[in-house]
Amino acid sequence: MLITKEIEIDMGHRVTNHKSKCASLHGHRYKIEVGVDDQIITTEGSSDEGMVMDFGDLKEVMMEVLDKRFDHGMVLWKKDELVPAIVADIKTKLTTVDFIPTAENLAKFWFGLLKVRLEERHIKIKHIKVWETPTSTATYGEVGNN
Ligand SMILES: [Zn+2]
Repeated sequence: MLITKEIEIDMGHRVTNHKSKCASLHGHRYKIEVGVDDQIITTEGSSDEGMVMDFGDLKEVMMEVLDKRFDHGMVLWKKDELVPAIVADIKTKLTTVDFIPTAENLAKFWFGLLKVRLEERHIKIKHIKVWETPTSTATYGEVGNN
C-alpha cells in the first residue's frame, strides 16, 4: 500500500551554467511529495492501526528534514562564485551542495536525506516528487502502487 504526503517550502537557488534566466539567483515555492510503501499496520489497539504510517508522523519527518533546513534558505552548488558572498551574510540559511541544484538533483538529494531518517523508524520511502513550478516536476525512486 502506498501513501503520500505533501509539504511546500520556499527556497532560492540558481543554475550557474544555464543558457538563460535560471543562472540568475531566484526562488521557487517547491512542492514536495513523499511516498511510503508498506503493509497496513494491524496491531490491535495501536494508535496507527489500519494505517501504513501516521500522516502526522510522516509530516513531522518531512518538516524536520526539509522545512527546518531548507525553507527560506538558499541552496547553491559549492563551486558557485556567489558562495563566499552568501556565507558572509549570517542571516541567510545557506546549504552548499556538490551538484547543480536543479529539481532533478534536489529530488535525489532530498530522497537520500529522508531515506536515512525514515529508516531509523523502519519506514520504507518509495519515491519523492518535487514540483519546481506548478507544471514542472522531478521524481526520484519508484512510482506507483504495488
Ligand atoms: Zn529555478
